[in-house]
Parts: sequence; structure tokens; C-alpha cells
Amino acid sequence: MTSPKKLVLILGDQLDLESTALADFDAANDQILMVESIHEAQYVWSHQAKIALFISAMRHFARALKDLNYPLTYIRNSNLSIIGVLKEKILEDNITHLVCIEPGEWRLKQELLELADELHLQLDMREDKHFFCTQKEFQEWAVNKKELRLEYFYRLMRKTHNILIDADGNPEGGQWNFDQDNRKPYPKKGPGIIDDPMMFEPDEITQEVIEFVGKTYPDHPGSLEKFRWPVTRHQALEALHYFVEYRLRNFGIYQDAMWTNTPYGWHSILSSSLNLKLLNPREVIAAVLDAWKKYSLDLSTVEGFIRQILGWREFVRGMYYLDMPQMAEDNYYNHQNALPQWYWNGKTNMACMRDAIGQTLEYGYAHHIQRLMVTGNFALLAEILPSEVCEWYLAIYVDAIEWVELPNTAGMALFANGGRFTSKPYIASGAYIKRMSNYCDSCQYKPDVRFGESACPMTTLYWNFLIKHREQFESSPRTRLMTANLKRISDTDQKAIVQHARRILSDLNAL
Ligand SMILES: Cc1cc2nc3c(=O)[nH]c(=O)nc-3n(C[C@H](O)[C@H](O)[C@H](O)COP(=O)(O)OP(=O)(O)OC[C@H]3O[C@@H](n4cnc5c(N)ncnc54)[C@H](O)[C@@H]3O)c2cc1C
Ligand code: SF4
Repeated sequence: MTSPKKLVLILGDQLDLESTALADFDAANDQILMVESIHEAQYVWSHQAKIALFISAMRHFARALKDLNYPLTYIRNSNLSIIGVLKEKILEDNITHLVCIEPGEWRLKQELLELADELHLQLDMREDKHFFCTQKEFQEWAVNKKELRLEYFYRLMRKTHNILIDADGNPEGGQWNFDQDNRKPYPKKGPGIIDDPMMFEPDEITQEVIEFVGKTYPDHPGSLEKFRWPVTRHQALEALHYFVEYRLRNFGIYQDAMWTNTPYGWHSILSSSLNLKLLNPREVIAAVLDAWKKYSLDLSTVEGFIRQILGWREFVRGMYYLDMPQMAEDNYYNHQNALPQWYWNGKTNMACMRDAIGQTLEYGYAHHIQRLMVTGNFALLAEILPSEVCEWYLAIYVDAIEWVELPNTAGMALFANGGRFTSKPYIASGAYIKRMSNYCDSCQYKPDVRFGESACPMTTLYWNFLIKHREQFESSPRTRLMTANLKRISDTDQKAIVQHARRILSDLNAL
């Protein structure tokens, strides 16, 4: 009997030497395949730094595999899709068994299943161990639930994994969540001195990749000049330890704060390393818990951070697999406007959008509140087609992979799934942005003016949205208060708001 010919496929966001795909690897018989596909860089109009990050991290990982004498076929810059290359390789080498970790993109998973079927392959698709919660566990939790809410899921994760639980089985500090201590704006004078996150000078491999991306994708958005992302596990671990030592202390309190020329605030900047699997969330949480004791950090900042990893990150992944492919189609409000061109170049008069988009183009990064309450908030209020917005987010952030990007954008920012896992649309007027940032100080618009020449577009569109969806907002106790404020605006002013909003919506590119 001939022995099975096994191929292990490692995708660009599965860069872990401890991967279960390699657990039973037999170097004498098995082989590994990694593919750089031009198609992956182009199927959305990806930021140059995102392309460079993936390619550089893949090439560094390939070198680590080679150093360990793994038999690896590494295909550079293929014109074929990943599936196209894989098919060629399987046919050429008479492969009978394919091993992989479940992809973070529904589309690719389907294509792999179809290929295995077509070629009569034995496909061994293994669970991704970079999550606390398996898909099966999430499905079991979600089944028959009337409401799918982060809070209850998060508490279950805390208990199941015994994280921030005291000796009596209660949450540390007597509460599950310290939101009221977190989420403050910076002081009026500004954020003061913030320790920069740890960044890495491009080494030879990265420099070569940067040059390659600049030449191959010159018309793609974004800049490569400030490329300093961790591209190896070693660098990612350094970045993690630096974060917990120097920056975690102020993460909680200022996690929602925004300020011009302050692209990272006190955030961890670890999402790309987590998503490429250079880091495991278990070691991130262990490092945070360790730092809590070692540096006597406030429980509020520690809990606030752990909630992001153990709560949101796990929750959105569960929701993605639960709701795909429907999630990508959802358009609850039937919004149809095109994404304004300036989302791709930052050339807008709105100071908040200019700053959030500007730093996104410069670094491929914006923090959560910039994504949710600035660019996301505007996209919802401006009635932009969800699929165009989702494409932008997937293209423009270095940490964007569909399992995490889509639920955050379609589900959380745009309410495109009608509140399947959020209790209300996340909308805010210019007043919120004024409270949480200094953006409005340098803006030609006025955050408290609702209509007319100097009116803030966020504010006009916010009130217009409430007027338009008044009934929906009044039907829920969580949102009733928002429409209650409408009663303080005269009918004449409400008409003027609607008229001004119509003008804005008819030419979003002019803003
Ligand atoms: C519209 C929109 C799109 C988003 N797209 C992405 C995306 O493509 N990729 C991505 O990783 N995150 C995405 N997020 C979530 C969040 O904004 C980023 O994870 C975070 O800004 C990354 O920066 P950081 O590492 O400094 O995070 P921190 O603020 O330091 O948070 C720590 C970690 O928690 C995790 N985390 C925090 N919030 C979330 C969340 N809502 N969902 C999942 N994980 C979370 C991340 O792994 C992050 O690294 C999106 C959020 C919104 C509102
Ligand atoms: S005034 Fe409005 S548009 Fe200008 S920065 Fe403030 S919120 Fe943004």
C-alpha cells in the first residue's frame, strides 16, 4: 500500500510554529505550502502597508520553517489565487491528504471544501487554537438565545477560563465591568507625554518587501514610509512586554479618547500580531495579569483590556461564523449611497474624518473609537452602502481579516444586521466628538450647529437620522431617550435639518 502524500497549507495569517497543522508533521513524507498571491492583495484595494506586513511576516516565517528544516514550497507573487496554486501543486505531486487550519475568511473556507471535493482529497481542517472559544462552543452558547450580547458571553468566558475570578468564584473587585472608570477624554490641555509603542526598523527582508510593494502596487492607498510593524514572533513578544510594562497603565482610562497627531494613544497596537498568529491571546492575557500584580496596575485598566481580548475578539469571531454568508449581505436600513472618494485620500474639510483617515493612510492603523465613532458613525449617518464600507475597512487596516473586520463594521458600526448583537445603533453627533477629542477646535464646522453653512455634518446627519427613524428609536427603552431630545427641537428647525441633510447626502464628496 502506498503511504498518503500529505500537504500542509499555511496561510498568511497562520504564522505559528506551534500550529496544530504541524503537530503530527512527518518531515520524511509531508510537505508545506505557502503562497503569496497577487489576487489576495488586489481583491480589495489594500493599503500598501497591509500588503507589506503580510508578505514580510510570511517571508520571515518561511525562513523560520527552513531553519528548522521543514520541507517548504514557498511561492512568491503568484498570479493565481491561493486555491489555484494549491490545485496545481496537488495535481503535480499526487497529493492525497490536505491539512490546514480553518481559514479566517468564509470564502476561502468554502473554496477549500470545494477543492477537496473536486479532487477527492482527504481534507483535515483543524481548529484554530488562537481563540479561547471553539466555534462549536459558541454555537452551543448562542442557540435559542433571544439576545446575543457580549456581556453575557464575556462573563461565561471569564468563568470558564478562570480569568479575573476571585477565590470565591466572583469577579475580581466585585464587578464584571469597570466601564464607568474608563473612557475619559484627555485633559483639556491634551494627552501629555505618552510612551510610544514599540516599533521595529525594517530589516533586510522587510526592506525588500517594502520596495517590492511600492513598485508592484503603486496606485494602492496608504504609505509605506512609517512601516514599523512587528513581523516576527520575537518582535511581537517584545511589543507585548513593552506594552504591559509602559502603556497598559493608562489604556483603560483613555481608551476612547482622541487627539490630533496622537495616532496610537495608550492602545496596545497588538491586533496585527494577534491576527497573524504571531501572538496567542492566552499569552497576552497572562502577560497582562502578570503586569497587574508586578506594576500594581488598576483593576479597571486590566479588566478593560482583557474584555477586548477575551470578550470582543472571541465574540465577533463566533458571530462571524454563525452568521456568514448572510452577514456580508445584510443592509437593514437599505442604505445605497456610494462611499465618498475622500475615504481613500483623507481630503475632506471635516477635521475629525481628516485626522482619522489621515493617520489610517499613514500607518494602516486607527484605534477602536476612531473606527467606530468617527469613520463608522459617519458612514452610518451618511447612509452608505454597507458592502462599500466593509470593503474599505478590509482594505485599509493592517489588522483587517474578514472574521474580525466584518462583524465589527457591518454588525457594530453600521447596524446592517438590524441589531443582531447590539442593542442600538452606535450613532453620535458632533457633541460626542467634541467631548472626546480636540478635533472640533481646528474644524471649519461647528459641532453644536445643526443646520446652515457652519453646521457640523455629523450633527446634521445625526438629527436627520433620528427624525427619519424616530419610530424605531421610540420603540426601545435603550434608545427612547435619544428621540426625547428631539422634542426640544422646534418643527421649523427639524424641517431645516432635514433639508440641510438632503443637500449633504446628495453630494457627500463635497464635504
Ligand atoms: C468598524 C470597525 C472595524 C474594525 N476592524 C477590525 C479589524 O479589521 N481587525 C481587528 O483586529 N480589529 C478590528 N476592529 C476592532 C478594533 O478597532 C481593533 O482591534 C483595535 O483598534 C486594534 O488596535 P489595538 O491593537 O491597539 O487594540 P486595543 O485597543 O489595544 O485592544 C486590544 C486588543 O483587543 C482586541 N479587540 C479590541 N476591540 C476589538 C473588537 N471590537 N473586535 C475584535 N477584537 C477587538 C484586538 O485584538 C486588540 O489588539 C474594528 C472595529 C471597528 C469599530
Ligand atoms: S465640527 Fe463636526 S465635522 Fe468638525 S471635527 Fe467636530 S465633529 Fe467633526
